[in-house]
Amino acid sequence: MRLINSPISQFDYKQHTFYVKRDDLLDPQFSGNKARKLAYYLENSLPHIDTLVSYGGSQSNLMYSLSCLAKLKQWNFIYYIKTLSTQAKSETSGNLTYSLQNGMQLIELKNDYNSFCDNLASTMKSNQLLIKQGGAQIEAEYGIQQLAHEIRAWAQQQNFQQLAIFIASGTGTSALYLQKHLPEFEVYTTNCVGSPEYLLKQFEALITTKQNKPNILVNDTYRFATPYAELYKTITDIQNTSQIEFDMVYDPIAWNILLNHLNKISSPILYIHCGGTIGNTTMLKRYKKILS
Ligand SMILES: *Cc1c(COP(=O)(O)O)cnc(C)c1O
Repeated sequence: MRLINSPISQFDYKQHTFYVKRDDLLDPQFSGNKARKLAYYLENSLPHIDTLVSYGGSQSNLMYSLSCLAKLKQWNFIYYIKTLSTQAKSETSGNLTYSLQNGMQLIELKNDYNSFCDNLASTMKSNQLLIKQGGAQIEAEYGIQQLAHEIRAWAQQQNFQQLAIFIASGTGTSALYLQKHLPEFEVYTTNCVGSPEYLLKQFEALITTKQNKPNILVNDTYRFATPYAELYKTITDIQNTSQIEFDMVYDPIAWNILLNHLNKISSPILYIHCGGTIGNTTMLKRYKKILS
């Protein structure tokens, strides 16, 4: 199982060279930053645990990786969601379908969701392991530190004194720990989920020692997991030029925001490909609806 040392591709677009850290080429079960965020659990045996518990969106990339982790560890996996749409119920591919095939027990909480999940940590028994929504917790640092080492070694090889690293944010966990472990470089991100203020709060919640925060390139236009015609154009252009398949949820926003801020960035740009492409079939269906 390949969980570290992803290769780096490069391509030219609009007179810029973009380097892409291909974490999408890590093991497909844990592809992308989820392999990094879950490395701690993959490498450590937790003999007292037999049940994994988590919660969040019904098409979450993390949910699918957790279902693979549970299967590998022979743990039960309980996943709480707020509601399941009729569209989601009818899907025959994508994160939800594959997670259920891996044995995930899905529990729909409806109105009780928020209060239930807020209290979840206090209800865990000694055989249960809780991984918070999006994996926003300190254990994620372990694998992101490895990613930082790989980037530093590559930058040295390239003779880059400066580097702008761009990574899309959901919870912001990956961006924050990457900046922590690469203080000599500038990490840029954008808020794909929620507001820039939400993202800052997420950073603050994880900061334990003095460190720089990643630069937030503000997204105040695009809502998470929502199709927009101009984003489709951006990601199609990028995919055609690079010959790399990107995620259809985070990456269209991330590339659009990055391309609109290129005048602010003078260092070579390394874009972190966070995987997530197995969710593309479901997101593409939503795109088809608005484009037809
Ligand atoms: C999970 C995910 C992210 C966001 O990672 P965070 O650490 O939550 O910010 C970005 N891109 C893709 C494709 C993802 O699956």
